[in-house]
Amino acid sequence: MTLHPMKSNVIAEARKQGRAALDEVAGKELLAAAGVAVPKSTIVREAAQAGAACALLRPPFVLKVMSPDILHKSDVGGVKVGLKDAVEVEVAIRAMLGVKAIAEARVDGFLLEEMAPPGQELVVGGVRDPHFGPLLMVGLGGVFVEVLADVAFRICPITALDAGEMLDELKGAPLLAGARGRAPASRPAIVDVLLKVGGENGLLMRHAADIEEADINPLIVSETGAVAVDARFILTGK
Ligand code: ADP
Ligand code: MG
Repeated sequence: MTLHPMKSNVIAEARKQGRAALDEVAGKELLAAAGVAVPKSTIVREAAQAGAACALLRPPFVLKVMSPDILHKSDVGGVKVGLKDAVEVEVAIRAMLGVKAIAEARVDGFLLEEMAPPGQELVVGGVRDPHFGPLLMVGLGGVFVEVLADVAFRICPITALDAGEMLDELKGAPLLAGARGRAPASRPAIVDVLLKVGGENGLLMRHAADIEEADINPLIVSETGAVAVDARFILTGK
């Protein structure tokens, strides 16, 4: 099978700049190049640009601080969801700049995004095993991953059958199907993302020499689709 070269050159760019990881924007570019949906977004450098930035996107918006010093943005008040207009965005930027952890960090700007359609939050990850190469991980977001460690792993490349089995292995699997009054999460959309990340032609296989760790957290899955709203890739130390 021939591998189509990916349009995105973000890994080479990050290496040239001596970076050990891709930031959120570069990570999402890599995902988009692999065919994974990411929110439409733009970068805002200062509060006064909020109006022009909002005009490019459909509300409601999400605002996120972009900083190499801040890994967990919401822990420091660096994520604000559900902003309705430019005034709210401007207020949110000024509020973030007033937070100590953000004021003291190197801030590259603010990522303004469209909200993903509401759905269930999953985590899709990748790690590199010294013997087996890339491994793919999936779990339900929040307490399921963090407290219950309810995750499934496979050695890449996975097939669509593997992807389905991974989902069925999760103890929280009934929630995906819509248990307890939740809207069901589109299974074909999840399988598609798992293949685009961990399949034969997926990004972990294509970039096996470059990706040490991948973390899509969360992938928001509605009844009709899946959107990767946060992404981080750690590069190998070659
Ligand atoms: P971090 O993990 O660094 O704290 P995230 O980018 O994951 O920051 O954002 C925190 C939370 O905000 C996400 O888990 C998700 O619930 C919500 N969120 C972030 N971006 C979006 C988006 N574009 N649409 C909808 N919800 C979002
Ligand atoms: Mg996150």
